[in-house]
Amino acid sequence: MEIVHVAAECFPMAKAGGLGDVIGALPKYQVLQGHVAKVVVPMYRTEFLYQQQWELVHESSQYIGSQFFHYSVIKEKSNRLGFDLYLVDINGLLDREKIYGYPDDTERFIAFQNAVCDWIYSWTHLPDLIHCHDHHTGLVPFLMQYGYDFKERLSTIPSVFTVHNAQYNGAFSWEQKYLLPACDMLHWSLLDWHGQINPLATAVKTAWRVTTVSKGYLQELTNSAAGLEHLFAHEKEKSSGILNGIDTEIWDPAHDPYLLFHYTVKTVAQGKRQNKEELCRRFGLDSERPLFCFIGRMVGEKAADLLPAAIAACVARHPQRISFLILGSGESSIEQQLDMLTEPLQGSVGVYIGYQEALSHLMYAGADFMLMPSRVEPCGLNQLYALRFGTLPIVRAVGGLKDTVIDMGDKGGFGIRFEQATVEDIMHAVDRAVTLYYDQPGHLEHFREQVMEIDHSWRHAAKQYLQLYKSIQ
Ligand code: ADP
Repeated sequence: MEIVHVAAECFPMAKAGGLGDVIGALPKYQVLQGHVAKVVVPMYRTEFLYQQQWELVHESSQYIGSQFFHYSVIKEKSNRLGFDLYLVDINGLLDREKIYGYPDDTERFIAFQNAVCDWIYSWTHLPDLIHCHDHHTGLVPFLMQYGYDFKERLSTIPSVFTVHNAQYNGAFSWEQKYLLPACDMLHWSLLDWHGQINPLATAVKTAWRVTTVSKGYLQELTNSAAGLEHLFAHEKEKSSGILNGIDTEIWDPAHDPYLLFHYTVKTVAQGKRQNKEELCRRFGLDSERPLFCFIGRMVGEKAADLLPAAIAACVARHPQRISFLILGSGESSIEQQLDMLTEPLQGSVGVYIGYQEALSHLMYAGADFMLMPSRVEPCGLNQLYALRFGTLPIVRAVGGLKDTVIDMGDKGGFGIRFEQATVEDIMHAVDRAVTLYYDQPGHLEHFREQVMEIDHSWRHAAKQYLQLYKSIQ
C-alpha cells in the first residue's frame, strides 16, 4: 500500500512536540512492514535542511486569494529516515526558522495544503491513501473532495485524519475565505463550525476516517474539545483511538548518541546513576537525592502553571531530600516563576528554559521520576520515553496517560497516578515516590527493570493503522 502523510512537523526536520515524533516514526515502521510511506511537510529553515542533500522533484504554481505563488517540492536524497521525505518550499511563506507562531500562519498552512493537493494531483500513479495530521492539514480531505482543481483525480482517494491535539483547531474568520482554493460552494457548510472556518472541524467532518492518539482521548473529546464536543460525538462511528508508539531505535538507552553512558535493562542501576551524576553536576544538584523531572511546553494543558507552587511546597516538605529539574518553554509568566525558584531553592531545583533535544534525552536517562500533571494529554510521549529509559512516570490519570500508566498499587502496576491537577495531588504523589526511593530501594530497582521491558514500539500501532487503511480501500 502507498500512503502519503501530510503534516506540519516531522522529526528530525522539524519538531515542536509529539506530532514531530509521530510523523518521524510511524512511516518508518510502515515501510518496515512492507508498505510505501511518504511524508510531506513545509520547508522550514531548520538545521536538518542544511545538513542534507535534496533533489528537486516538482515545481508549479497556485493562488492564495488573488495572489499567485510559486512552489517547489524537494526530496531528501539519502532516505536516511527510512521513508521518503518531501518538503514544500513556498518562498516567503514557509521558509522560516520557526514552525508556528507567525501572524500569517493561516495563509502559510492554506498555501501549503493547496500546494500539496496540486502536487499529488500531478502524479501519474496516485497513492492509495492520504493521512493528514492535526488542523494544519485539516483542509486537505475537504479540498480533495470539493476543490475544483483537485476533485477530479483526488476525490476517490481515501483520507484519514488523526487528531493529535484538539486544543488547537486553526479557526479563522469567514472574511478570509478568499484565501481558500476555489471549491464547490454547495459544500461550504462543511468548513463551518460556530460561525468560523474551522480546519479541525472540517477534517473531522470530511475525512473518511478519524483517529485520535489514544482511546481515552477519543472519549474525553466528546466532553472537552475546545468547542467541538458535539462534532466528535456526532462523528464517533467513523472515529477510533490508536495509541501512539515510540521509535525504539531513536529512544534507546543502549545506543542513544545524546548519552555518554549507555545502559540496558541488565545495567540500568549503574547506567542511570552515571547519567544522573552527569545531569546533577550540570545543574548543581545532589545526585544522592531522588530526582524529579518535567519536560514539556509550559502551558495550562500540561498544568505547568502548578509547577512553581508544587515544587516549592514539595521541597519545603522534604528539605535537602529531593531535587527537581525542569526543561521547557511556553508562557512567559510560568517561565519567570520557575526561573525565580532557582535562587532560593539552589541545590534543589534546576531549570532550563528553552528547547533542547540533547538535554531531554539525558533527563529521561538520569531522572528517577518523570512528572506529568497534565490537564489534557491526548497520548503523551514523555511517559513512554521515561519507561523505555527506566524512569518511573508520575502522571495525572487523563487521556493517554491513563491508558499507559498503571499505578504501582494496582496489579501489574509500575508508576504513580493521581486524579486531580492540583498542588495537593502532586505533593501526595511526590510523597509516595519519596517513600519508595528512600524506604524501599529494592522496589525501585525492580520497577525500573519492569518498565524497560514494556513494548511501546510503533510495531503494534502501525499494524492497527494498516487495518484501518485496508477497511476503506
Ligand atoms: P506535546 O503535547 O507537546 O506534543 P508529547 O508528550 O506528545 O507532548 O510530546 C512531547 C515531545 O516533545 C517529547 O519528545 C518531549 O521530549 C519533547 N519536548 C517537549 N518540550 C521539550 C523541550 N523543551 N526540549 C526538548 N524536548 C522537548
